[in-house]
Amino acid sequence: MFYVREKINDTVGITVEIHDDNVFCTCPGCGCEVRIDLAELFNDGEGDLYGTAVYCPECSRSRLEGNR
Ligand SMILES: [Zn+2]
Repeated sequence: MFYVREKINDTVGITVEIHDDNVFCTCPGCGCEVRIDLAELFNDGEGDLYGTAVYCPECSRSRLEGNR
């Protein structure tokens, strides 16, 4: 089990279990919430929580079409 631990103040902290359905990021294209599959993200061995941006399906599609 993996979890996120965040200190709220000196006495209170929270831990949140990471599952394959509760990891999200913000789409850099439109700002909407995108669900992330961490296993898929790190599958290529180059996953980087800071350097990786994941576009939502709509933005992914328009980016693909724009590059054509
Ligand atoms: Zn988007």
